[in-house]
Amino acid sequence: MFRQLTRICRVGIVSEPTPCGRGPALDLLGPRLEDAVSRIFHGSLAIRQVDAGSCNGCELEIQALSNPYYAIERYGIHFVASPRHADLLLVTGPVSRHMQTALRLAYEAMPEPKRVLAVGHCGADGGEFGVSYASCGAVHRVIPVDGVIRGCPPSPAVLVQGILELIDPALLQVPAPDPDSDPPASREGL
Ligand code: SF4
Repeated sequence: MFRQLTRICRVGIVSEPTPCGRGPALDLLGPRLEDAVSRIFHGSLAIRQVDAGSCNGCELEIQALSNPYYAIERYGIHFVASPRHADLLLVTGPVSRHMQTALRLAYEAMPEPKRVLAVGHCGADGGEFGVSYASCGAVHRVIPVDGVIRGCPPSPAVLVQGILELIDPALLQVPAPDPDSDPPASREGL
């Protein structure tokens, strides 16, 4: 025990310092997103996320939206467990043949008006996996899609920009986030 304490005192803190703010990209996009959610969804946008066959890289970035650093709930956006409660469906991955029916059922269970975003290169066009005996490829091959968020994986700031562009196309002129200012969350803190 004493040896451990001595070592802790000698080595000190080895992790990176906590970053100040949430990065220029999210500081710029956040208030616009909050405004759009307030105007279009009366302050509450419910998202149901479906992993239709991804490698989980995209899920790591989507999960990061809910952590204390990005805290997307402060803009009125929250993730729900049932598609029946969702305004927006976020779909990741190429759609595996096993998930084809489940994805279609989730889409059909959503109330109107429903919106769908395909996330990542895989969701947009099948990515590395394409179409095969195990994969249907892009999300639009299974259900109607309203927009895509490209990236492998897209960072949380790019996800926020994609959601904003879908729900309020008038804000399409928002400058694209600088990828260096908001690196993929899975790389942070390592
Ligand atoms: S886009 Fe990239 S990170 Fe996302 S599921 Fe496909 S391979 Fe994985």
